[in-house]
Amino acid sequence: MAKLDTFKSMVLEKPRTVSLIEKPFEKLNDDEVLVAVKACALCGSDLHAFNGHHSRVHPPRVLGHEISGQIVEIGKNVKSNLIDLRCCIENHIPCGECVYCSNDKPNLCINAESIGFTKDGGYAEFLIAPAECIVPLPEKVSYPIGSIMQTMGVSYHAVKDIAEVGNDDKIGIIGAGPIGLCALSVAKSLGAFVIHFDVVDYRLVAAKELGADIVVNLSESDPIEISKEYTDGLGLDKIIEAAGGSQDKTLQLATQLSRKSGEITVVGTFSDNQKTIRIVEFKDQEMILKGSRGHPHAFEPCLELVQNGLVSLEPILTHHVSLGQVQEALLMMEKKTDNVIKVVIDPTM
Ligand SMILES: [Zn+2]
Ligand SMILES: [Zn+2]
Repeated sequence: MAKLDTFKSMVLEKPRTVSLIEKPFEKLNDDEVLVAVKACALCGSDLHAFNGHHSRVHPPRVLGHEISGQIVEIGKNVKSNLIDLRCCIENHIPCGECVYCSNDKPNLCINAESIGFTKDGGYAEFLIAPAECIVPLPEKVSYPIGSIMQTMGVSYHAVKDIAEVGNDDKIGIIGAGPIGLCALSVAKSLGAFVIHFDVVDYRLVAAKELGADIVVNLSESDPIEISKEYTDGLGLDKIIEAAGGSQDKTLQLATQLSRKSGEITVVGTFSDNQKTIRIVEFKDQEMILKGSRGHPHAFEPCLELVQNGLVSLEPILTHHVSLGQVQEALLMMEKKTDNVIKVVIDPTM
């Protein structure tokens, strides 16, 4: 795309209103790059921001934190071989200095900035990013798949780093949205046996396609019976909670699905801070509850899994839209119409 004086950008102006506007290019800082956005995936947290419920988003803001593109201009201090590079963008920008950054937990940084939340993001033709956020995209990996490395990274951190799922594990995943489905893909690549739970049939069809051993519609079958059937009556070794939202059922269910001494990892984003857990079972059966946040060091291993064909995320990408269709797409996600799982914006459309 030829660079003109201005570029198109979809701006969240106030809750539930996004507008397509022309923005002038800003001057690059020495350590920054200008990226022509080729794909930007819509995320559930964008929907929270769209509805005015995201604590870190203050309009006017260009949303979009799941981004891939091509570098078209570089700042003075940036290596010249980055020009023209196909890349995806690590949206989380840790400070590098706080106690968590110093202890290799950049996802818990207390001073972090975040592209698409505290800085303008990828709902645009172009985007400025610090060069340190650039992750090269292997030739075999498409821009749309590259854009969802952020989603897959969240799932990878939960399943591999936090839950430490291995090939002996029989696990349950609750929630078959993008995070749950990516968690499934990662767990299968690690050799685990997976039972996937949701209440939406078309999402369970995607789970089956992505390799779930068993899929269970919670509104039709007894999930506890089924889990026992496949675990000699014991219950599942590990549960990944990937549903979140406003409901208060999945943590209670997780304790019922778990075996004694089992582990529950929460990666789902809940919309409020208090949820119910079955505390007597949790305590008496010596269960372990873990939290998982962000995607530290996860883009590279995720890209490797995709490049090597160990994970194929195509069934997750259900919709491709232009910049002008963003509001429509957000509303489609909100109502879960048209069998939507993940929407990707192509700003070149
Ligand atoms: Zn996201
Ligand atoms: Zn920090």
